[in-house]
Amino acid sequence: MGQFIEGVDRRQSMLLPECLDDYVGEDSPLRAIDAFIDMLDLAGLGFQSSPAATGRPGYHPGLMLRIYLYGYLNQIQSSRRLERECGRNLELVWLTRRLKPDFKTIADFRKDNGLAIRKVCQQFVALCRDINLLDGNLVAIDGSRFKAVNSKAKNYTRGKLRQKLGEIDKAVERYLGELDRADEVFERTGTVLPEARMERTLRKLEHLRKEAARYRTIEKRMDDSGETQVSLSDPDARSMATTPRMPRVVGYNVQTAVEAENHLIVAHEVTMHGYDRDALSMMAVAARDAMATDRIEAIADKGYYKSEEILACEEAGIAVVVPKPQTSNAGARGRFDKADFAYEAENDVYICPAGERLIYRFTGPQDGKAIRVYWSSNCADCVIKDKCTSSKQRRIRRWEHEEVLERVQRRLDKDPTQLAVRSMTVEHPYGTIKSWMGATHFKMRRLKNVATEMALHVLAYNMTRVMKIIGVPALIAAMSA
Ligand code: SF4
Repeated sequence: MGQFIEGVDRRQSMLLPECLDDYVGEDSPLRAIDAFIDMLDLAGLGFQSSPAATGRPGYHPGLMLRIYLYGYLNQIQSSRRLERECGRNLELVWLTRRLKPDFKTIADFRKDNGLAIRKVCQQFVALCRDINLLDGNLVAIDGSRFKAVNSKAKNYTRGKLRQKLGEIDKAVERYLGELDRADEVFERTGTVLPEARMERTLRKLEHLRKEAARYRTIEKRMDDSGETQVSLSDPDARSMATTPRMPRVVGYNVQTAVEAENHLIVAHEVTMHGYDRDALSMMAVAARDAMATDRIEAIADKGYYKSEEILACEEAGIAVVVPKPQTSNAGARGRFDKADFAYEAENDVYICPAGERLIYRFTGPQDGKAIRVYWSSNCADCVIKDKCTSSKQRRIRRWEHEEVLERVQRRLDKDPTQLAVRSMTVEHPYGTIKSWMGATHFKMRRLKNVATEMALHVLAYNMTRVMKIIGVPALIAAMSA
């Protein structure tokens, strides 16, 4: 008997299972994929299936969806790899019933059915809601930057163009100086510098002129379009900061809302903005609609703190918890902060640390918002004025809807652990999806295609979680109910 476990002899005869179905276990995720696609009204979702130009019937959208869902569940996102797997992967052979679309057909399906694929992702969220897997009250919202098919070298901002053109000007000056010096040497001594060296300098000058012309064309493109960035490979990709400690990426900002019970992604959106502050109400409302509830609570980090967005959430029945970023430097200068002034709603006054009443004076506009201004007439005699203001009197400004922001702060003060719930809920789905995507995140270019890819990733993520939570047989039973 050998030391290691031996495999079977390849030439040995054996009894194979009698049909393809015997290869797939009852609790295989393949059966969940199959049951999910079967329950969908594909025509109603807007899938197209046009026959080939030769008149040959096209592949059924259900077949193509099965291939993609299997691919995204198994980290095979490329259409060429999916074509190969259709021919050699027994699980895909089972799913496709031995049909093998070529990579172009596979790729075109994803490209042409983006909207319908996004609806499929929503249908799975609706299924999760129907089987009570979504916590009806709490979602965490966050954004993360995903790399596009566009290198940093092929992304230009005005600053980068200015820097490049400045470098070219300096290099041109240096080479022209070399040519001038060569002329001077010739005039004074009659010595001609080696021809190869002169040719090399002229070639470099020509190259620099071409580069400068290329950068000016990009600059003109920015002028004409009014855009602040140009990406050459994927025109919709934008250079955006990740974290203060990490470098920028050229890509997209993917927003997600994740419910707190089972950590399922209930809503997602791909944006071209490098910041989160305009996305709070969009994501919170999308999450509320997906969860089909009237009132939810949404937690987000301080990058989402924007008064108008918080107000929009309140008006939509969504109670948000967002920490306020520290923007005032009064505290750092050793002076009282606005938080040191207590507001008395019943009298519409602020009470300052010296106990004086700051009364309402007037309302003025600031950044498009109506701001109410308060001050006391006793500041001149105040013994702690040096701790408060260097002006004639300390003025406190209050947004006309400030009570909304105060409610947000009270919610946070009541339970500061909610911020930890946010990071535990919403951050790990990004880690999982990015690890599935590999080093290059998106495979396609342009916002609409990238949004389709993200919908497939979110669908695969949610499906994986649900299969882990309730198991494949229970999921299939819920789909057939
Ligand atoms: S300076 Fe005016 S607002 Fe500030 S503590 Fe004194 S009285 Fe109050």
